Amino acid sequence: MTSRPVIDDLSNFWMPFTANRQFKAAPRLLESAKGMYYRSTDGREILDACAGLWCVNAGHCRDEIVAAVQQQLATLDFAPTFQMGHPLAFEAASKVAEIMPEGLDRIFFTNSGSESVDTALKIALAYHRARGEAQRTRLIGRERGYHGVGFGGISVGGISPNRKTFSGSLLGNVDHLPHTHDLEHNAYSKGQPAWGAHLADELERIVTLHDASTIAAVIVEPVAGSTGVLIPPQGYLQKLREICTKHGILLIFDEVITGFGRLGKATASEYFGVTPDLITMAKAINNAAIPMGAVAAHRNVHDTVVNSGAPGAIELFHGYTYSAHPAATAAAIATLDLYRKEALFERAHGLAPAFEAAAHALRGAPHVKDVRNLGLVAGIELESRDGAPGARAYEAFVKCFEAGVLVRYTGDILAFSPPLIVDEEQIGRIFGTVKDVLASVK
Ligand code: PLP
Repeated sequence: MTSRPVIDDLSNFWMPFTANRQFKAAPRLLESAKGMYYRSTDGREILDACAGLWCVNAGHCRDEIVAAVQQQLATLDFAPTFQMGHPLAFEAASKVAEIMPEGLDRIFFTNSGSESVDTALKIALAYHRARGEAQRTRLIGRERGYHGVGFGGISVGGISPNRKTFSGSLLGNVDHLPHTHDLEHNAYSKGQPAWGAHLADELERIVTLHDASTIAAVIVEPVAGSTGVLIPPQGYLQKLREICTKHGILLIFDEVITGFGRLGKATASEYFGVTPDLITMAKAINNAAIPMGAVAAHRNVHDTVVNSGAPGAIELFHGYTYSAHPAATAAAIATLDLYRKEALFERAHGLAPAFEAAAHALRGAPHVKDVRNLGLVAGIELESRDGAPGARAYEAFVKCFEAGVLVRYTGDILAFSPPLIVDEEQIGRIFGTVKDVLASVK
């Protein structure tokens, strides 16, 4: 493959979630990818330890997905889905529904995780209104939760820097559960921590405070990813489910990261045996080949909304120009076929013990204060430098990249979520590189 010349003016692209000035002074640019590897513009192979951004679960540039998108763009580039349709939209919805938990088989397509979250929150409000409980408008999120960057998502989200600049305007009728992370009790947990299920009872306190009749929905990530890999305590999600059911509150699992095999099952809901009313997803739904997200709604939620309007009336005033874009749906169908054909969710399940052992081998490495994991996701938390939170993990991230491994960092936590095609030798290389790097980080 011939490389394009590296561009020398980086000023026009205002980069998302990036320290723009720092990056542009010393850029890291990727120009191609295949399987488990990126290639950087300086010609190096970079082992992908985070599936891009937790999204390329089948590995990069898979032939089947590339061909499906190419063919689709040459056949039907765009078709509206407002009062119109195209066959792949329905086929993709059926394929997603097939692997969702029992009953969650009504699929609304979006273009991102953020849009999926806003869509799910709006469906929850529409559901209660259709039932004659329009006063149920309060939404409950969780501290340290990440639900994307729409105003709905940052309202229920619990990451302070994502909220503070914008908090003067739309962030409204919300409350937050406490997060479940406490190193005094759950440091170095392998899999689900034994401590912390009681924190779900905080929902009862919130219900008492506001009254159930004002609360529409609770949204949590079953495993919190972007805040630095927080694994739910044993029994915690089950308790949330029970309390929501008791009070008629909808439970939304944000599975943008956990969906499509990350934990060794199609969904975290399946993995934990807890079925919410709505699931948000994106990213690995189509291996991130084309922007796409979706909400899976329980049939009862869907039917309540859809049967409430007069015949011929639009039931939900919501949707995106690119909902079920033909190329995105073609990619989704090819991706879901690939997951099944190559049994990638089962592969993730089979690799999880080796992944866990390799991650926990970093216990005792310089600066490490916690290691946590579930399925093919792990977090390694570092001691922060005095007065410079995040600086140590950033340095580790840059050094890993220079050593040929792409990891993710957030605060002072390194996060790992490789494509599900990763092998044991590559797992060893990922954590071996991190170990070497930590020995050289100040
Ligand atoms: N929800 C969760 C749990 C996520 O992890 C993310 C992104 O990482 C989002 C929502 C937002 O997705 P997007 O960046 O596609 O809008």
